[in-house]
Amino acid sequence: MVRKAAAVIILFLLTTSSVWAQGEVDSLRLRLSRDFGFGMGANIQGTFSYRVTGPDNLERVIFLLDGEKIGEDTEAPFRLQFRTETYSLGVHTMSAEGETSDGRTLTSNTIQRQFVSGSDSTKASLWIIIPVLVLSIGGGAISAWIANRNRSDKDQPAVTGPFGGTICPKCGRPFAMHIWGPNIAIGKFDRCPHCGKWSVVRRVPPDALYSAAEALKEEPPESAAPALSEEERLRQQLDDSRFDE
Ligand SMILES: [Zn+2]
Repeated sequence: MVRKAAAVIILFLLTTSSVWAQGEVDSLRLRLSRDFGFGMGANIQGTFSYRVTGPDNLERVIFLLDGEKIGEDTEAPFRLQFRTETYSLGVHTMSAEGETSDGRTLTSNTIQRQFVSGSDSTKASLWIIIPVLVLSIGGGAISAWIANRNRSDKDQPAVTGPFGGTICPKCGRPFAMHIWGPNIAIGKFDRCPHCGKWSVVRRVPPDALYSAAEALKEEPPESAAPALSEEERLRQQLDDSRFDE
């Protein structure tokens, strides 16, 4: 029973793969690659290439733009580079025709793109970049504001801000970062307000900053602090003793 099922599956795989291989042999496949420029959805601008693949005996490929020949290639890889600026703005249909050594003519799939001007593509890019910048700066400010608002004690110095917070690698104390820049691999150069040393720092999530701040509060920071409390204790003892008399 199991063997029979396995045999059916193998037969099915053999049939489909041979059908697929057959389809591949007779088809001419056109792809469009961006070599330099802009591409967003169907809008393109810059230098692009037709890239055509087909059967092994493919001898010649004619590249068509809106049904008109704009170039040909007689050697694999079948490729034609073009600049969108060469043609009118608007929608264009790209396709290819191929000839095989056994005299067959093959037609590729078609690709439709809208050629846009350089200024249009710059505008379109800005429409993407500006909201991303606003979101990253604004989002950082909002999360810092929420985090600061939720803090139990307000007298602690802010450990995060609109540019996020970090922990000083020199003294281990958290502080709010001062400069905003793209998050490059190594981090940003910033100055620790506690120890005054400059170091390359990376953004640390607010939770980690607050736990670092809490940890520092718990351990006695300097030897001066316990001495002060010792003095206070003595003074209190003195005060208490006055009542004893
Ligand atoms: Zn420091």
